[in-house]
Amino acid sequence: LTPCFSPPLSSSNVYMADLESALHYALRVEVARFSVLTGERVRALKDFVAVLAKYFPGRPFVRNFLHSVDRWLRNVRESRIPYSALELVLTNRKEVGLLSNNVTWVGCQGSEPHFRGYPCSLWTLFHLLTVQATRHRRLGTGPLEVLGAMRGYIQSFFGCRECAQHFEGMAAESMDKVRSVDEAALWLWSRHNRVNARLAGTETEDPQFPKLQWPPPELCRPCHSVVKRRQVWDEAAVLQFLKAYFSPINIFLNYTE
Ligand code: FAD
Repeated sequence: LTPCFSPPLSSSNVYMADLESALHYALRVEVARFSVLTGERVRALKDFVAVLAKYFPGRPFVRNFLHSVDRWLRNVRESRIPYSALELVLTNRKEVGLLSNNVTWVGCQGSEPHFRGYPCSLWTLFHLLTVQATRHRRLGTGPLEVLGAMRGYIQSFFGCRECAQHFEGMAAESMDKVRSVDEAALWLWSRHNRVNARLAGTETEDPQFPKLQWPPPELCRPCHSVVKRRQVWDEAAVLQFLKAYFSPINIFLNYTE
């Protein structure tokens, strides 16, 4: 059988469906793999949900949901959390009635089911959060707030353990050199490009979506400049581009748009 594949409207857009699917999958599938959360995992979950509650530019019911999960986690004093207790909060019908209980990939739709999907949406989510932290500096607790939450989530919960190891290697090498929220957004962008370079041409690459050094010139011409006949990034232009691309007004709410 030829797989039935209709290409996404554009993989160069940010879609709320992908982001909400990432939230569902992270909290109700990845975290759910642990029947009891202890130690580092409790810390990682609290930090992750705290940055989501603070920065996720979601629809009102999703923001209410994230705030209620955050409030609940903040009030947990025990060092262990049975997932069954968390699940009651995550499935509280009053607040999560509309947060879909399954995944819909749009910008992250792969040409076959094993391509793209959740990892794509997780990158998108964290890029968005680093950019949101640059817009709401008053709310922040420091340049590593979002990156630290991402590091903890990936280490504690991300199902691809090989990916987690690679990411931890990059984090241990240079994350603590990040000095501002702008640098945090750029750090994640440049590390994602390293991952893209490493994976280009491997079996994890969806042939319909080749791994690029991103953003390519068609998306951001000023991001690319030439110094002594070498292609280099103009990081100021990249930062400006990231802030526009991952801005709430650039998120498509309705994927038929
Ligand atoms: P993705 O790389 O997932 O990117 C998603 C979207 O983000 C792209 O469509 C594009 O719009 C945008 N984007 C691309 N590059 C950038 C950038 N530099 N900055 C901002 N936005 C960008 N897979 C492995 O096989 N081995 C690994 O070691 C590995 N490590 C991973 C580590 C992490 C933390 C994560 C979240 C995923 C990892 N993966 C790894 C999965 C892999 O990186 C891809 O997510 C997956 O192959 C799907 O690729 P994709 O084509 O959908 O694009």
